[in-house]
Amino acid sequence: MTASDGAQRILVYGSERIPYILQSAKKGKRKLSIHVEPDGRVIVEVPSEASIESAERAVKAKARWVYEHVKASQQRREHVTEREYVSGETAFYLGRRYKLKISEVPKAESGVKLSGGAIEVKVATKDPQIVRGRLRGWYKERARVYLGKRLEAVASGLPWVTQRPKFHLMETEKRWGGCAADGTIQLNPFLVKAPRDCIDYVLLHELCHHKEHNHSPEFYALLDQYDPKWKLTKRKLDDMAELLLNE
Ligand SMILES: [Zn+2]
Repeated sequence: MTASDGAQRILVYGSERIPYILQSAKKGKRKLSIHVEPDGRVIVEVPSEASIESAERAVKAKARWVYEHVKASQQRREHVTEREYVSGETAFYLGRRYKLKISEVPKAESGVKLSGGAIEVKVATKDPQIVRGRLRGWYKERARVYLGKRLEAVASGLPWVTQRPKFHLMETEKRWGGCAADGTIQLNPFLVKAPRDCIDYVLLHELCHHKEHNHSPEFYALLDQYDPKWKLTKRKLDDMAELLLNE
């Protein structure tokens, strides 16, 4: 299938025309898979031995599923509006909704803190870009502490993790986490906006990669064993992704 890797096709479903992108699946993958990304893009991973025609047929056969997922992603994104970084705006932390409270203070007193139901951002000038920078910095600080603590807690229940797992924070647009070949775990700092069960699910997923490197059946069996409800939690996190990554 490599000849037309990245080619765009159109799926016609009723009166809807849904574009999708064909991509070569990783070597060794034998099954075609269809993904609807959080931004609504449809990606179809086609095994190397499959023809483009058979891929198109497979997508057509799944037309209703694709349509429903694309629609759901559109509906989720309608609720996500451009951030303004003004008082009263919503900000998330550990799954809770807080109000932003912006106040102007002398430079030496600037900072961010949680107080009651608000995330208070004290800045020398109420410039939205400055507020944004401060808030992002605060999420990173919180992420370093909180995600580190949860990582140790989750790891302590997994017999194959014998050393304190290493991690670093990395802002990515769409991913919550990753695991490098040397075992270092990458975490998106904005994961700290999600509820604890979602955080623990992401950490468990990455720690399972210490035992099973690929998304093999053995990998999913491991996830099932240590968190039988992980699919529900993943769904919850996916549904919030647009909202939480909007920073
Ligand atoms: Zn993974």
